Amino acid sequence: MMDCIFCKIIKGDIPSSKVYENEYVYAFRDINPQAPVHILVVPKEHISSVDEITAENSAIVAKIFEAIPEIAKSEKLSGGYRVISNCGADACQSVKHLHFHILGGAQLGEQMG
Ligand code: AMP
Ligand code: ZN
Repeated sequence: MMDCIFCKIIKGDIPSSKVYENEYVYAFRDINPQAPVHILVVPKEHISSVDEITAENSAIVAKIFEAIPEIAKSEKLSGGYRVISNCGADACQSVKHLHFHILGGAQLGEQMG
């Protein structure tokens, strides 16, 4: 996707603070952190949102969720963390490349909506 900011980050065309990478998955620090640790985990393949996940591409979700506990361990999130994916306008998704927020490093609030 030519004009996708996360595709550009994955390619290295836009700088990012990388915390994890493998063949399928890239993870970097959110530029506007909402918690002491705020990391975005994205597939290298462009998928617009959770709403675009199908039987054909869902294996990437497993790859992402295999990476998340590894990232949590390296970030020392032993007290716990939250994983969120905003999907579509009602959820205020601002970047149209599938991503999972990892939030942690402090006691988080109970409210999510
Ligand atoms: P969402 O609102 O769920 O689509 O989340 C998009 C996230 O991407 C926001 O938390 C932004 O702060 C973050 N973001 C946008 N541009 C960048 C960037 N260049 N580097 C790191 N994080 C970014
Ligand atoms: Zn993209």
